[in-house]
Amino acid sequence: MPRKRLIWRLYPTYLFIIGLSLSSAVWFTTRTIHHTYYETLEHDLTIRANVVQRNLAIESLPLDVAWVDPLCVELAQTLQSRITVIRTNGEVIGESDKNPSEMENHRDRPEIQDAIKNGMGMSVRYSRTLQKNMMYVATAIREDGQVIGVARTALPATSYEQTLNSIYYSIALGGIVIAVLSAIISLVFSRKITQPIELLKQGVERFSHGDFNTKLVIPNSEELAALAEAMNRMGMQLDNRLRTIDQQKKQQEAVFSSMVEGIIAISHEKKIITLNRTAAECIGIGLEQSVGKNIHGLINHEPLMDFIHLALDSETPIEGEIEIDGESKRDFQAKGAALMDSEECQLGAVVVLNDITRIRRLENIRSEFVANVSHELKTPITSIKGYVETLLDGALNDEENAERFLTTILKQTDRLNAIIEDLLSLSRIEKENKHDAIELTLQPLTPIILSSVDCCRQKANEKNISIVTNTTSTITINANTQLLEQAIINLIDNAIKYSGENEEIHVDWREENHCVIIEVKDQGVGIAEEHIPRLFERFYRIDKARSRKLGGTGLGLSIVKHIANAHKGSISVESQLGKGSTFSILIPH
Ligand code: ADP
Repeated sequence: MPRKRLIWRLYPTYLFIIGLSLSSAVWFTTRTIHHTYYETLEHDLTIRANVVQRNLAIESLPLDVAWVDPLCVELAQTLQSRITVIRTNGEVIGESDKNPSEMENHRDRPEIQDAIKNGMGMSVRYSRTLQKNMMYVATAIREDGQVIGVARTALPATSYEQTLNSIYYSIALGGIVIAVLSAIISLVFSRKITQPIELLKQGVERFSHGDFNTKLVIPNSEELAALAEAMNRMGMQLDNRLRTIDQQKKQQEAVFSSMVEGIIAISHEKKIITLNRTAAECIGIGLEQSVGKNIHGLINHEPLMDFIHLALDSETPIEGEIEIDGESKRDFQAKGAALMDSEECQLGAVVVLNDITRIRRLENIRSEFVANVSHELKTPITSIKGYVETLLDGALNDEENAERFLTTILKQTDRLNAIIEDLLSLSRIEKENKHDAIELTLQPLTPIILSSVDCCRQKANEKNISIVTNTTSTITINANTQLLEQAIINLIDNAIKYSGENEEIHVDWREENHCVIIEVKDQGVGIAEEHIPRLFERFYRIDKARSRKLGGTGLGLSIVKHIANAHKGSISVESQLGKGSTFSILIPH
């Protein structure tokens, strides 16, 4: 059923009640007036009929036209009404308005019949004689108790009817005026009732749209005022609750999105219920657009899909490790558990992804490092052991060989010492750097470099290599003298090792873009491009045999890198195979 506005429910009811009461009032009034008029008329005519009947009785009977008719005319003038006298057989023997001989028999007239039967008769009807509506009252004329005729008086009903009509007209007019006025008043009244309700409705609609700032206007009527106050209270509570929920939601979202673990919740229908930013990044999907989508076709990583299916099917929490191939390969520790609602019904599963790529890489580096160290130490130890065993087996007595063997043993011991020294040095720099324990002091750079060059001078002279230091710059640097010297010595030492005889090594230092750059440039063997990215790793050597022969440990450049890092700087290399290399230490100023 179509809904109507309250006013259109109230207003027609008012109109109906007004119409009904008005028409009932009109109906009663008109009926009463009608009766009263007719009763008065009848009473009046009865009196007149009785007067005629008495006159006839006084003038002696029997009835005869000769005197009855003139008497009728005479009385009619006195009583101001039509008078007729009729015998019981219906013959008219006296008539005030006409000649009785010309009149038809009146026996069938209802008032005559009633008067003969009951002594009195009355009727209102159209008179064919006078051709208008008349009221007739007839009374019986008796002789010795016997009805011998009827005396009838009549008056036109038209004048009364005209009066009644004008009264009806006035009542109808008054009724219409009252009806129109009542309709207007009831419309205004209905509006007065519905308007506050309309205002309440608008206010509640504002509430439903989340606008709790404007309070409901309190209407005048007690009930509606109580309703509006209750709604205002409800609005306030709702507002507070919504604010709390909103705040909690934002807090939860903030926690959820800033978690380093990737979280993804999936429904039984394999649709994503929610996921956080980390999960979206790990899987390589959009955050907003993925919610509500099916995981098939969205997630392309098979191990992750298998794990999600397992989590959805499993009743107990599961754990595993998965590898996701994205821009780079990443390792994740995955945990899956059932996702329950507040009624403990399972909605799906939640999967938590913990990025363990770094941990795995560190583990690999550590085990690789241990393997490298063991390998590096094993070579000289095996060599030493071999020579010692040979010596014990009798070579000790062979003086010439014994000396050669012992010299080799000494060399291998030096090598062991060099490796251990470098390892200790590396671990010390690493440890101190981690705890910010490396002391840096502001000092001129030139003395540090010249001292480093001096340390390497003798080794350079052995190969007739000249170390050129043309720079006369007076740069100051915030550095740890001993460590920076060690780094520069390592670079010059390498340059000497990997240069041919009679070549030149250039050591330069300058200031550029708020950085101090120290360059060691040689004209040696150079480095092939594919080796450059791994050059600064521990124990990385391009030619192991050559490095060993030259007394290298494979840790020199790694130490330089750590020293540069300890100074918040970096190390880089530019090289061309066969044309030499340039190593640059860059330290922010
Ligand atoms: P090593 O003790 O073997 O020199 P480093 O860490 O100092 O170890 O150097 C690693 C490797 O880098 C060396 O084995 C060598 O192959 C290469 N290298 C270092 N410096 C130079 C250079 N100036 N010219 C050519 N190759 C170099």
